[in-house]
Amino acid sequence: MGYVKGLKCRECAKTYPAEAIYVCEFCFGSLEVDYDYEAIRKVLTRKKIESGPSSLWRYRDLLPINGEPTVGFYSGFTPLVKANRLAEELGVRELYIKDDSVCHPTLSFKDRVVAVALSKAKELGFDTVACASTGNLANAVSAHGAWAGLKRYIFIPHDLEQAKVLGTLVYAPNLITVRGNYDDVNRLCSEIAAKYNWAFVNINIRPYYAEGSKTFGFEVAEQLGWRTPDHLVCPAASGSLLVKIWKGFKEFEKLGLIGPVKTALHCAQPQGCSPIAEAILSKSDAIRLVRPKTIAKSLAIGNPADGYYARDAVNASGGTAGIASDEEIVEGIQLLAKTEGIFTETAGGVTVAVAKKLIEEGKIAKNQSVVIAITGNGLKTQEAIQSSLGGALEIDPQLKSFEEKVLISSKL
Ligand SMILES: *Cc1c(COP(=O)(O)O)cnc(C)c1O
Ligand SMILES: [Zn+2]
Repeated sequence: MGYVKGLKCRECAKTYPAEAIYVCEFCFGSLEVDYDYEAIRKVLTRKKIESGPSSLWRYRDLLPINGEPTVGFYSGFTPLVKANRLAEELGVRELYIKDDSVCHPTLSFKDRVVAVALSKAKELGFDTVACASTGNLANAVSAHGAWAGLKRYIFIPHDLEQAKVLGTLVYAPNLITVRGNYDDVNRLCSEIAAKYNWAFVNINIRPYYAEGSKTFGFEVAEQLGWRTPDHLVCPAASGSLLVKIWKGFKEFEKLGLIGPVKTALHCAQPQGCSPIAEAILSKSDAIRLVRPKTIAKSLAIGNPADGYYARDAVNASGGTAGIASDEEIVEGIQLLAKTEGIFTETAGGVTVAVAKKLIEEGKIAKNQSVVIAITGNGLKTQEAIQSSLGGALEIDPQLKSFEEKVLISSKL
């Protein structure tokens, strides 16, 4: 039994049945899943969650399925790493890394959203799933869809990192590269979704897909001992993850699972594609669309579907935004790796770099608790750092060569 009442327009509040629809036919607002919180309050306790599976499905009562979950039994419930060395480096007292670079099975937080989306797609009777992707979603839909035995059509821009293409192809979906950027791919997919009866995870079943991101926030709160941090720095592409972390925190608060939420939520974007961060920083009413040019390809969405909601969530939380240049992204990746032993992709480099800036600017106070959202794995974006890493030392297989080349050059 699930607790979904239906879908509800985020703008005019008109309600709809929980089907594969995503736009309000009256005002063109986007639809969101609506739950029966009174019924959930009666059954959901900290203890019930703690005794659940070690996956995102421990929060099943707050996820939009009716029956039992069918996809993603190992996704989510990733480590919240206490980051003491990075804390010292950045000059804050209490710092954590929420590490979705090790999410099962494709090493990004997209495994969460796809677990929920495909469980719902199966429930709605679809045999074919599809997506428009900046890379990680392509990996996740391909892998989860293979496990679930679904037909898959994956659409990506033509210029993605090699590991993201390979890490999709290996699961044998129909992979289509489109001569255009993500926003072009997404526009094409909206047309395809209107014509073919497929479950496009980030189009016609987006309301369900997006709910999966709440579990990132749920886990942070649970793993901190049922509280939320003073600050959370989150990367944004469409803005959905950021919006849903906030929704997740507020749901826990509403259900009495945690006390009042006092977290300042901060939006991190790369310099070559920062429409949401710019709007927050300039206090502008409009989000100005951009043509992305950044090494953080997973964040390269110039026309963010949830941009306004992300801006509103940041403002409601009392947070702000930060922007990282390509150079700072590379530094951020290396800083996290050398202090905490975590290798993140370019999106994580953005988040670390922005956290560093916000601390330096005093927007995050040194005596407060901070969580940095690490959403993807560095092995997928090796191109970004290849030229900035020193090489290995090569020696002959003799002790003499080792002592000459290694001990002398490292001045032991
Ligand atoms: C997709 C993605 C994001 C941002 O997701 P949105 O919900 O669209 O804002 C962040 N990090 C990584 C690694 C991603 O793949
Ligand atoms: Zn509406």
